[in-house]
Amino acid sequence: MKIWESNIRKVTPYVPGEQPKRTDVIKLNTNENPYPPSPKVAEALRQMNTEPMRKYPDPEARMLVEAIAREEGVASEQVFVGVGSDDVLAMIFMTFFNSPKPIFFPDITYSFYDVWADMLRIPYEQKPLNDAFEIESGDYYPENGGVIFPNPNAPTGALLGLDVVEDILAHNQDVIVVVDEAYIDFGGMTCTGLLERYENLIVVKTFSKSRSMAGMRIGYAIASAELIRYLNDVKYSFNSYTMNQTAIVLGAAAAEDHAYFEETRQKIIATRENAKTELRKLGFSFADSMANFLFVTHERVPAAELFAALKEQGIYVRYFNKPRIDNYLRVTIGTDEEMERLYAFLREYLGENYGVL
Ligand code: PMP
Repeated sequence: MKIWESNIRKVTPYVPGEQPKRTDVIKLNTNENPYPPSPKVAEALRQMNTEPMRKYPDPEARMLVEAIAREEGVASEQVFVGVGSDDVLAMIFMTFFNSPKPIFFPDITYSFYDVWADMLRIPYEQKPLNDAFEIESGDYYPENGGVIFPNPNAPTGALLGLDVVEDILAHNQDVIVVVDEAYIDFGGMTCTGLLERYENLIVVKTFSKSRSMAGMRIGYAIASAELIRYLNDVKYSFNSYTMNQTAIVLGAAAAEDHAYFEETRQKIIATRENAKTELRKLGFSFADSMANFLFVTHERVPAAELFAALKEQGIYVRYFNKPRIDNYLRVTIGTDEEMERLYAFLREYLGENYGVL
């Protein structure tokens, strides 16, 4: 071994879902929105030219920050933007989780949390979800170095009521509590209303799901102006220009089109509710998801087998080969047509191989 080997920061990276090269697939594996971004984004794109690219973008991304602040009903000093919520979350881990005490998050959750904690040498404890795949708020009462959980949780889709979120906050007033609301727009209630009472709360959201802009990489945090200042100090110590000019302009256009946002999220909610009925009929069970995906298991067919059969057919879903969830598939909600093709294939496959109706 070379001497320098021992000084390398070796990490086990997060593994993102597959982005297949083929275009003739039904892509239900990375929780993207099947609908295009707002037509206002297309219009803003048409009006853009290359001239501003010569210059550095606004390091404060004010146009985007202000559009988000208006949409969320908060002051612009309470908004921090980043390159997807992954960037925002990474900055949050770096800025706020610096205690020798462990941070707490669920055992089954967004699989980036333990990667950031490991990389940044943050001690952590994972609190097991109960058998219904729900967070038990009491697990988060003991002393800790910070708390983070998604609501709804991923990949389960299970939603905590605001009373439970508040209960966790009430028991954790000496640390920073981060609620990752990547999927909140598909049927949950945002906890931003609790910001007035809990100055240690940070709410994280993204344009990747309910605003159909995963490819633009826009995420944000809402918190007290004081916490946002701390976040910005770390960001400016890392990279002043995280948000590119195109993302700033197109993100602002998306944030301003509230009507389109409502329309697409309601379409996805309706398709998801129908998917619950269809998949139940086919012998699947799942936690009651309030996200844009269902986390399903079949009474007779192993998830790994179904995953492979679906992929063979050009239908991509997500499979996590991990303890407790290795017999589950996470199925993103697509358009009605895409979902119909999924049900049709499953009907055929389960009928032929398992005699299911
Ligand atoms: N949080 C959760 C719970 C997620 O599932 C995702 C999507 N992978 C993210 C954050 C990050 O999304 P993005 O960086 O696209 O905003």
